[in-house]
Amino acid sequence: MKQPEAAEYNHYFDVAIIGGGPAGALAATLLAEAGFSTAVIERKNYPRHKICGGFLSARAAELLPGDLLIPLAKNVPVHSLEFVCKKKTYSYNSRQKLGILLDRSIFDSQLIRHAVERGAVLFENKSIINIQYKLSETGNKNVYHLQAGKSNQITLSASARYVIGADGALGKTAYLAGISPKRRKFNGQALSSILPNIEENSGTGTLTFFPLPFSAGMGWSFKAKNYYNRGVGGFAGRSRLARDYVRLFPDNMNNQPHYWPLPFLGPLRKIATGNLLLIGDAAGLIEPFSGEGLYNAFKSAYFAVQAIKEADKKKVEAEATYNRLFKKHFRAKFIATLLGAVLLNLRAAVAPSTMPLYIARLMENKLWFNDAIQKK
Ligand SMILES: Cc1cc2nc3c(=O)[nH]c(=O)nc-3n(C[C@H](O)[C@H](O)[C@H](O)COP(=O)(O)OP(=O)(O)OC[C@H]3O[C@@H](n4cnc5c(N)ncnc54)[C@H](O)[C@@H]3O)c2cc1C
Repeated sequence: MKQPEAAEYNHYFDVAIIGGGPAGALAATLLAEAGFSTAVIERKNYPRHKICGGFLSARAAELLPGDLLIPLAKNVPVHSLEFVCKKKTYSYNSRQKLGILLDRSIFDSQLIRHAVERGAVLFENKSIINIQYKLSETGNKNVYHLQAGKSNQITLSASARYVIGADGALGKTAYLAGISPKRRKFNGQALSSILPNIEENSGTGTLTFFPLPFSAGMGWSFKAKNYYNRGVGGFAGRSRLARDYVRLFPDNMNNQPHYWPLPFLGPLRKIATGNLLLIGDAAGLIEPFSGEGLYNAFKSAYFAVQAIKEADKKKVEAEATYNRLFKKHFRAKFIATLLGAVLLNLRAAVAPSTMPLYIARLMENKLWFNDAIQKK
């Protein structure tokens, strides 16, 4: 993707977003549309690979700007779910579209391009190195001074009144802002791989799940047009998950699966300081039962944008509004969400035939611990 020359810009922005994944790109779109000068600082070049199941649920898709849904319509729609337990397969077919299967490298590029078209400035291939909150060059107010680059060589210096940390589970913003320790502990993790689908097209757009009770998680095989996305995730260590993977997919071992954390404890943690707010995986918002992260990534982007708009209007710090929204929508519901995850795992053991329907209901936001939050 074409990137601006660093020298072309006066590097002062209203908002700097660290990380141009789905959460950061959506926040950038919304802020640019609202008239904030917005920069996105991204460690990699697009298109870039992201380890993910590639399932965008209908509830997550609803949170995207309408014009983005047109290119997304080319992806594989998902109407059916399977749950495979003790060699039996239980199925559920929905008349409603449950979501779509997509390639994250293409999807993430579409999202960031959309943000750039709305006026956000993208700096690719720049990893955040330093964040300091201090007096601006004019000396009349405090702003965030940011330095980014590659291999600790600074190639970008910028300042911004607000910062959004959207740099994912392994991002550095939370640590650089003093919100989290350098090495964060992750209770959940997953490993996945993408394999060519050389079979006939039947079953395309089906999500197949496998219970992993001893890993407190699930395995999945998502069948798109010309590939499978397969993996396992849960609250077990890497070696147990690797064994689960081999057991479920014995034919796939030539294709090395990749690990990535599944951060879900964010609602118990600090997620903001002053005018610096964390969103998406950087804020630890993965759904504990399904591992779905895109829905909460988008929700938190909306809340951060709302907090910045309010802070700007009322001349207060964004942290207060963001904490209030975060508490209401994530923190207050967290125990219920965890309990829901435990009950679903129990249900998988005692009544596996009901699981496809329950997973569909979870994705449709219809279980008792779900919410029905919409864009605003
Ligand atoms: C195996 C697996 C399968 C999953 N499957 C699904 C699924 O099917 N459906 C679903 O909804 N969710 C799924 N998830 C969760 C989903 O992938 C995440 O919740 C989602 O990507 C979060 O988006 P994000 O923008 O917060 O973070 P990310 O997508 O991680 O984006 C963060 C961005 O920040 C950049 N970055 C990182 N560090 C720096 C730095 N120092 N400086 C600048 N930029 C930086 C990264 O390059 C990246 O572009 C899955 C997760 C895993 C691990």
